[in-house]
Amino acid sequence: MQILNISLPIQPDSFYYPGTIPTEFESFNSKSGSSILTKITTHSHAGSHVDAPKHAVGMTASVDEYSDSNFYGACRVLDLSHLEKSITRSDLVGKSILKNERILLKTRNSNRGFNKFYDDFIGLTSDAAVYLAEQEIMLIGIDWLGIKANDASDNISHTAFFEKNIPILEGLNLAEALEAEYTLSAFPIAYVGIDGAQVAARLIST
Ligand SMILES: [Zn+2]
Repeated sequence: MQILNISLPIQPDSFYYPGTIPTEFESFNSKSGSSILTKITTHSHAGSHVDAPKHAVGMTASVDEYSDSNFYGACRVLDLSHLEKSITRSDLVGKSILKNERILLKTRNSNRGFNKFYDDFIGLTSDAAVYLAEQEIMLIGIDWLGIKANDASDNISHTAFFEKNIPILEGLNLAEALEAEYTLSAFPIAYVGIDGAQVAARLIST
């Protein structure tokens, strides 16, 4: 069995989406003085994470309302790293995407690395999101901190999935992933009532 870690490290010098906040760690001693703990300042969309419907203004379902079954099981990586612009419907229609598939989109974002924020990142256009949601997939994932195309004028690349309760994984590092089938394990940590949560994302192959 091979386990590929596709989570981004979360640490104070991690890159972050402009307009959000950087992560900060501040260690402190327990009252007894014998233990060290760390105050963590970050946000729900730092590093590899899942978006919940509540992330879209006007929607209400929080990250703890997803079913665990979405986050574990067969998944397929689509290698779209040849694309120089955001992923459109026509880039996906020939991929035989089926109901209940978990789909991860590998783009040139992964090949460029995750040391800084690039304005010309590859995202998902609204028509592509609507197409994927129509296929009733079980999960979508992408290798950037946001799924929305950088020139999108609406938020459909989020809401198309949220309306069908399809989790959106963002911030995956797919540099080492092939266009292949894997078992995905990407359970969110146990935040309650909020719009997203970090995931420990792994691709498992045998
Ligand atoms: Zn997010």
